[in-house]
Amino acid sequence: MSPETPIRPDTKVMPRAEVVEGKLNLVGLTRDRLRAALLSAGTPEKQAKMRTRQVWSWIYQKGVRDFEDMTNLAKPYRALLAEHFEVRVPEVMTRQISTDGTRKYLVRVAGGHEVEIVYIPETDRGTLCISSQVGCTLNCSFCHTGTQKLVRNLTAAEIIGQVMVARDDLGEWPEPGHNPNVEGRLLSNIVLMGMGEPLYNFDAVRDAMKIAMDPEGISLSRRRITLSTSGVVPEIARAGEEIGCMIAISFHATTDEVRDKLVPINKKWNIKALLDGLRAYPRLSNSERITFEYVMLKGVNDSDEDARRLVRLIKGIPAKINLIPFNPWPGAPYERSSGNRIHAFAEIIHKAGYSSPIRRPRGEDIMAACGQLKSATERVRNISRSI
Ligand code: SAH
Ligand code: SF4
Repeated sequence: MSPETPIRPDTKVMPRAEVVEGKLNLVGLTRDRLRAALLSAGTPEKQAKMRTRQVWSWIYQKGVRDFEDMTNLAKPYRALLAEHFEVRVPEVMTRQISTDGTRKYLVRVAGGHEVEIVYIPETDRGTLCISSQVGCTLNCSFCHTGTQKLVRNLTAAEIIGQVMVARDDLGEWPEPGHNPNVEGRLLSNIVLMGMGEPLYNFDAVRDAMKIAMDPEGISLSRRRITLSTSGVVPEIARAGEEIGCMIAISFHATTDEVRDKLVPINKKWNIKALLDGLRAYPRLSNSERITFEYVMLKGVNDSDEDARRLVRLIKGIPAKINLIPFNPWPGAPYERSSGNRIHAFAEIIHKAGYSSPIRRPRGEDIMAACGQLKSATERVRNISRSI
């Protein structure tokens, strides 16, 4: 990215609610907006509260998409709903399963755009990595998504819809009478670490994550949701207040000179501004540590001196440092640090008292690892450009 290129939030690129062929999609509406929608279709005021709960529960607790299947609603009311509304989630175009069990879905959203979703099964959890935008306005030089221009923000429906289609595929909508809060869920965690900068699509991300946390629906604890940001400082505290989920910071460098190149948003909010912002973060505590993501790039940010500087910089912030071996993509200008280098780096951080897990790349054979995501929309565009 050239220094002149403005870094801009693209919040105006998408309408808040989706209306297709005159039918409003109920997915992604907050409870208040769902209630307003039901009232506007003629639901009597006296019944509105109960109907909102019922419809909410059908959509998010039971995973039902067809109003006909909402069997505790009177038939004429089901017909009324079907006349005005739809329950629509992104369409799954392809599903790939890696040799390590990681699943990558390519889903199509309105306008024919495509985004990728990755499901990562582990022994103690199952994490779904979802996207917040088609492409990204930021141009982090090591990130595949960063080579694609922002196409548009995703709506709340498209964001929570990614969770819903993954639950469909995992067969994880509870049977009637089944308690959805039981442990051992296949999809137990959500990370906003797919395509896009979630804090540049704040309202839709907030509404979608509120739905994911709602106890009468998907019901994931706020501690099981992690939002990763490249460092949109003013929005970080807001995420703590309005979403309450865990925060991960794409840190990646210990000097402004290097961070300006890797994460260009650093030119707007530099390392000091970012760390000052984090120190003021309302939810900071030892039990709610901030995750610092640090991609290991050979000869760029992986020296012992970098590790020591990192420890000095974050002093006083309850933190965990997640070391991510760089995942290559075609044409990438970087290489992954060696295993020995990564371990030496981790050791320095560990000795300073921080947890420093090394993230094991998952789903590499299907290009599903961090930073490898880039939608087929873009690939198709590139192909047509070259012919
Ligand atoms: N835009 C947000 C969230 C999406 S990126 C952010 O930047 O935080 C999710 C994570 O993947 C970030 O930490 C990002 O730095 C990391 N990442 C991107 N490209 C990568 C690559 N090629 N190898 C390893 N990690 C990468
Ligand atoms: Fe965008 Fe995050 Fe990739 Fe940077 S790392 S280009 S902010 S998706």
